[in-house]
Amino acid sequence: MTAPASQPSSRPFALPGGVGDPRVPLIQVSDLSRIYQVGDVQIPALRGVTLEIRRGEFVAVRGPSGSGKSTFMNLLGCLDRPSGGRYLLAGEDVSTYDSDRRAQVRNRFIGFVFQGFNLLPRTTALENVEVPLFYNGTPHGEREGKARAALAEVGLTDRGHHFPSQLSGGQQQRVAIARALVNQPALLLADEPTGNLDSRTSVDIMALFQRLNRERGLTLLLVTHEPEIAHYAHRITVFRDGRLVEDRPVSGVRDAARDLAAMPPDPHLDGLA
Ligand code: ADP
Repeated sequence: MTAPASQPSSRPFALPGGVGDPRVPLIQVSDLSRIYQVGDVQIPALRGVTLEIRRGEFVAVRGPSGSGKSTFMNLLGCLDRPSGGRYLLAGEDVSTYDSDRRAQVRNRFIGFVFQGFNLLPRTTALENVEVPLFYNGTPHGEREGKARAALAEVGLTDRGHHFPSQLSGGQQQRVAIARALVNQPALLLADEPTGNLDSRTSVDIMALFQRLNRERGLTLLLVTHEPEIAHYAHRITVFRDGRLVEDRPVSGVRDAARDLAAMPPDPHLDGLA
């Protein structure tokens, strides 16, 4: 879930409106490092990562547990600051931003989706999707309309008044995706979004990501340990021991909507494809 924004900082918000100059890559990181200090021990979680991600790319992030994937995503998501190196988001050096400005960047430019959905349990789908709008001062009268539009975008028009416990796992993840989209971010970071879902629902979620990527030009980064899920992305990056050890285009990107259509029907299907 998008982390709560704190009070606006007195410094002006420097990132350009929208996604900025389309010629500038959305993400440029150079020699990015992150060392965690635990007592007297230093843990180098990320050891000098350099890469660029253009607008509209769909990139899978793979690697064994402990290889630095979450650390990397936390840095890209402006949840954390690097120990060294540089991170330009839409050409703006956000690695120097204080926590207030990073919160603004998160709220305005970045959507987050997690394995565990992270929905508020005693809150309806619609209200869950409205949460990020509270934090950026969207007027009360506009919140519901925006949340409804985001729910419609993920195929959940008729589930706005359901509580998470009344929704299937796939539907809950769709609500979480609607919440991530409600501020029209340029970048969506998804950390094992299909980790709690069965195979059919996982492909269904990938079909949604592929559509958002294709139709809205949304830039997507997806951490996954499942090779077959990574093949719905256009590019695969692999981390090992805090380093980027592989970065390659996917040949023969799979079409999730087509794969879904070829799968046997599920008797418990959400009915939302
Ligand atoms: P992955 O997401 O690939 O499993 P992580 O980025 O979570 O990898 O972790 C990379 C390394 O950094 C691991 O050795 C992990 O134990 C360590 N690490 C991650 N987060 C912290 C933290 N907050 N404090 C100390 N060490 C951490």
